[in-house]
Amino acid sequence: MESKRRSFVAGSLGAGAATTALAFPSIVRAQTSFNWKMTSAYAKGSPFYMDGPGSATDLAKRIEAMSNGRLKIQVFGAGELIPAFEGFDAVRAGTVEMNHANSYFWTGKTFAAQYFTAVPFGLNFQGMNGWLYDGGGIDLWNEVYAPFGMVAMPCGNTGVQMTGWFKKEINSVADLKGLKMRIPGLAGKVYANLGVDVKVLPGGEIFPALERGVIDAAEFVGPYQDRRLGLHKAARYYYTTGWHEPATVSELLINKAAWQKLPKDLQAIVENAAAACNVISEGWCQKANADAMEDLIKNHKVIARPLPDSVIEALRKETEKVLAEASAKDPLTRKVHESYTAFKAKYDRWSEVSEEAYHTKVRG
Ligand code: CA
Repeated sequence: MESKRRSFVAGSLGAGAATTALAFPSIVRAQTSFNWKMTSAYAKGSPFYMDGPGSATDLAKRIEAMSNGRLKIQVFGAGELIPAFEGFDAVRAGTVEMNHANSYFWTGKTFAAQYFTAVPFGLNFQGMNGWLYDGGGIDLWNEVYAPFGMVAMPCGNTGVQMTGWFKKEINSVADLKGLKMRIPGLAGKVYANLGVDVKVLPGGEIFPALERGVIDAAEFVGPYQDRRLGLHKAARYYYTTGWHEPATVSELLINKAAWQKLPKDLQAIVENAAAACNVISEGWCQKANADAMEDLIKNHKVIARPLPDSVIEALRKETEKVLAEASAKDPLTRKVHESYTAFKAKYDRWSEVSEEAYHTKVRG
């Protein structure tokens, strides 16, 4: 969907046309404009994903402003143009140029996609950015999507998510058996191996399912988004810091042929707007979740606590097993896994004397 702004070219050359003849082709190229479509796995109006600082609509606005209208992106919530989880196929086919979601929805297409959203017991926000931007993560992401004719980059992050809402207390691994729980991605696989009956539902279907008892437990994001869905009205126990999603990356998925048609300056604008939204959205989450958590505990009598250590240890062991099995099955997954774990080992040693040490030994 390209259109050349001929009126600008005609209007601006005028009497000086003869002297600027050499510059003419570059003016035409520079003024080529693009109208793109971006779909999302999240419903219209969803905070963080669709609305607010660093969201999909904010990203589109920033790109339009920075490009002076040369790249306009129309944003569609889940179900408006395509169903929630069909963004991968739509971008691959070129039906839309972009999709805004999380790569872990595509593990059925290519398992390695999991690593670019969140790995259970994996890197936090700072570590994830280190791996993606400077540790080869984004290059691997693009390598994984090359067979599908797509490129990707981070465009948001929730920070650490919450373990989720449970109707009953979880005191041991045995309490997980037979539990019906909404949870996507690799963490769902891990829970399933420990006897959980795993369901993957779009955000909008979680509350009615939990309220009616179709499911007994659910994870979504964090206090702000969870409260908005009303999950605290359907379950009493809120298990806190999420082993399953230590820093969940939002993915900007782009059709490669469309991407290659963009001039370099517009590509740079997209990359910089996405990087800005990565930081801005995470900042928004910190403030919004701090407020919402206080409200949930003070005003809604939510019981917030971490999972028992024995359950965490069982989940950790199972995660290691699932990741090892996936790596053994697929060379590309192994390549990504090795890059991720090598980076994490080094980052953990650094963090022990920097960020982590600050939180545990200095902050008080
Ligand atoms: Ca989640």
